[in-house]
Amino acid sequence: MASTSLSALPAFVPHPPLTDSHGRVIHDLRVSITDRCNYKCVYCRTGEAGAQYPELGIDEYLRLIEIFVSLGITKVRLTGGEPLLRRGVVELVRELARLRTLDGQPLDLALTTNGHLLESLAEPLKAAGLNRVTVSMDAVDAAAFERITRVPGSFSVVLKSIRAARAAGLAPLKINCVLLRGFNDDQIEGFARFARHEDVVVRFIEFMPLEEGRLWSPEIVVPLREIVERIGQTLPLVELPPREASETARRYTFADGVGEIGVIAPVSQAFCGACSRVRLTSDGKIRTCLFSQVEHDLYGRLRAGANSEELRAYIVRTVQGKEARHHIGEPGFLKPSRSMVHIGG
Ligand code: SAM
Repeated sequence: MASTSLSALPAFVPHPPLTDSHGRVIHDLRVSITDRCNYKCVYCRTGEAGAQYPELGIDEYLRLIEIFVSLGITKVRLTGGEPLLRRGVVELVRELARLRTLDGQPLDLALTTNGHLLESLAEPLKAAGLNRVTVSMDAVDAAAFERITRVPGSFSVVLKSIRAARAAGLAPLKINCVLLRGFNDDQIEGFARFARHEDVVVRFIEFMPLEEGRLWSPEIVVPLREIVERIGQTLPLVELPPREASETARRYTFADGVGEIGVIAPVSQAFCGACSRVRLTSDGKIRTCLFSQVEHDLYGRLRAGANSEELRAYIVRTVQGKEARHHIGEPGFLKPSRSMVHIGG
């Protein structure tokens, strides 16, 4: 039997990293801190008030996130609903920035927002310790943008926020654009130019069946291949190598090296095999997949008096049962009971 010298052994780790039964290491936690949203994007929401799930106290999110971090989470992304609607978001970021990973490093702290309230919050969020922000933006043409968000004047507000975020040093600044055929696929080339002029990374995302209403069909999805081909016809692209195995976006720069775009293709080129994520909903349920049919009531256990060790054991067990993959487009596919706005994208 081969012997291992003591110096070659890994450093002591208080808990094993979070893994699932498929051997994937889970190090990325997305936390929804509200499912309220000030936009009614046509592909996401019906426009009706609809269901709303409870929110936890900021200190409760912090307590639960701390427990995840003690199990090996290294990256936390705050999302929603619209996370900037949530009072206490800056204080939450400040507290999260104090946490350390199992390796003693600060967390990678990110936030996804529609940008509507970001202009004045960019500086305070950066000062509190936020590393990065992703702004969702589904058109570069003002009228098209406002047809999607259903909020008049929203385009100029979001543009100012993007510039404020960049000025605050929230970098790299990513812009997420969900493409739908017949809605905004005429914006693809404009977004490529926008990425270069505004010095932002634009990431196109394939539309998934997670809307409140019933809009999704395979035909409405604009697949990665088509996006890349269309941009390449006017601005030749060069694919960039992945930086880590769990990277969701295929990344491209332009032939002159200026600017970057990415395509996240969960439908046409699913990346479940490399998934490193779990989610916590605004009401404290763990979702091990966007398309989970079951949720795991972590907050219920906290409220019932479970101690940190019991909560840790519950998380470890839950993550073990993470689904192997999603089944979008397959016969028998079932939409989850919560839509994207209520899960936290
Ligand atoms: N309100 C914030 C925002 O707009 O970024 C955070 C929540 S929002 C649900 C997160 C992201 O999910 C947005 O970029 C949005 O465009 C995206 N999204 C919503 N519905 C989607 C769907 N059915 N398929 C793919 N992405 C979706």
